[in-house]
Amino acid sequence: MDLDFESLKEHNNQSDGFNHPDFYAIDSLLSDEHKLVRDSVRNWVKKEISPIIDACCQAAVFPQHIVPQLGKIGCFGPQIPTQYGGGGLDYISYGIAMQELERGDSGIRSTASVQGSLVMHPIHKFGSEEQKMKYLPKLASGEYLGSFGLTEPNHGSDPGSMETSFKDDGDFVILNGAKMWISNSPFCDIAVVWAKDPDGIVKGLIVERGMDGFTTPTTHKKWSLRASATGELVFDNVRVPKKNILPNVKGLKGPLTCLNSARYGISWGAIGAAMDCYHTAVKYAKERIQFGKPIGAFQLQQKKLSEMLTEITKAQLLAWRLGTLMDEGKATPSQISMAKRNNVEIALNIARESRQILGGMGISGDYPIMRHMANLESVITYEGTHDIHLLILGMEITGENAFV
Ligand SMILES: Cc1cc2nc3c(=O)[nH]c(=O)nc-3n(C[C@H](O)[C@H](O)[C@H](O)COP(=O)(O)OP(=O)(O)OC[C@H]3O[C@@H](n4cnc5c(N)ncnc54)[C@H](O)[C@@H]3O)c2cc1C
Repeated sequence: MDLDFESLKEHNNQSDGFNHPDFYAIDSLLSDEHKLVRDSVRNWVKKEISPIIDACCQAAVFPQHIVPQLGKIGCFGPQIPTQYGGGGLDYISYGIAMQELERGDSGIRSTASVQGSLVMHPIHKFGSEEQKMKYLPKLASGEYLGSFGLTEPNHGSDPGSMETSFKDDGDFVILNGAKMWISNSPFCDIAVVWAKDPDGIVKGLIVERGMDGFTTPTTHKKWSLRASATGELVFDNVRVPKKNILPNVKGLKGPLTCLNSARYGISWGAIGAAMDCYHTAVKYAKERIQFGKPIGAFQLQQKKLSEMLTEITKAQLLAWRLGTLMDEGKATPSQISMAKRNNVEIALNIARESRQILGGMGISGDYPIMRHMANLESVITYEGTHDIHLLILGMEITGENAFV
C-alpha cells in the first residue's frame, strides 16, 4: 500500500508533546554530547516518525524513505569510528539514540539496531580492511541497508544447531540454507549471514543482493513491529566470493558478540517505549473526568502511575550504569542479559497498565500504547528470549548450564 507521508506529516504535526520523566535527575549523569544526541534524535522522531507511524503500522508499511535520514542523523553505527563513516561516539550516546528511536516505535529502532549492531559491528570487528572500507561508509550513510541472518526455521534459541552451510568452490563458496524472521531482509542490500563451513565451524559471510540464488521473501501477517520489514533470507546454491567471508572470527562467538551490542541498545530502547506509554497515561489521567473528577485523582490510577515511574527510574539507572561499563570495556554478557530482560519486561508491563488507564481509548491508534505493547512482544522474544536471558543469568549465578 502507498502512503502519502507528506500529507500525514502536514495533518499530524501537532500531536507529539513528549518529554521524558527524570525523577532521579539522571540527566545530570549525562554529558552535553549525550543530551545533544538525545535532543536531535527526539526532534527528528517528532517531525518524521510520530506523524506517520500509526498509518505505517495500520497498513504494515516500512517507511523506506527514512533509511537515508537515519544515516544523516547518525543513528547507523554511532559507536563505529568516524574513519568508517560512523559517529565515533560512546555507548551511552548509542543507547540514548536507541531510546529516542524506540520512543517513536520499536520497529524504527529495530531497523537502526540491526544496521548498527548486527551488520556494521561485525564488519568493523571481524572484517578485513577492504570489507570495512567497502561496506561501512555506505551502511553508515544509509545508502545500503543491511540485515543479519542467524535464526532459521528449525533453530532459534539454539543457533549452534544451524543447518545453513557452505562448501568450497575455488575462489568462491557455495551457500545453501534459509534464515527466517530477519529484520530489514525484504529491503536489504547486503546480509551478514552465519553459516557452517565444511568442518561445521560457524563463519560470517557478507551476501549481496543480486547474487544468483539469493532471495528475500517478505514475512506477512505480523501483529507486531508492523512498520519494520521482516522476511527470510533464502540461499539456493549462492556463489559467494571467499573475500566476502569475515576473516577474523569463527564459531558462535561471532554472532553472539553482535547480539551483545544489540541487546545493550534494546535495554535503552525499551525505556523509550515505556516512557512514551507513561507520558501518555499521565496526560490522559489528568484530563479524563469520571465521577466528577480526573481519573488521576483516584488511588488505583495513582498506584499504577507511581509504580510505572519507579520502574522507569530503575531501568534508567540500570541502562546508564551498563553504558558506563560498556564504555570501560567491562560489561559482561550476563549484565547485558539482565538489563535487556528487565527493561523489556517493565516496558511491556507499563504498556499494559497504561492501556488500561486509557480505557477504551487505549485500544485506538490515536494513542501509541497498543502499538508499543504489540511491538514489545517481539522485543521480548528477539535478541534472546526472556527465558534465555534468565538462563544466562542463572548460569552466571550457579555455574550450572540449564540450557540443555
Ligand atoms: C519481528 C522479529 C524480528 C526478528 N529479527 C531477527 C533478525 O533480524 N535476525 C535474526 O537472526 N533473528 C531475528 N528474529 C528471530 C528471533 O531472534 C527468534 O525468534 C528468537 O531467537 C527465538 O527463536 P524462535 O522463535 O525459534 O523460538 P524457540 O527457540 O523455538 O523458542 C520457543 C520457546 O521455547 C523457549 N526455549 C527455547 N530453548 C529453551 C531452553 N533451553 N530452556 C527453556 N526454554 C527454552 C523460548 O524461550 C521460547 O519461549 C526476529 C524475530 C522477530 C519476531
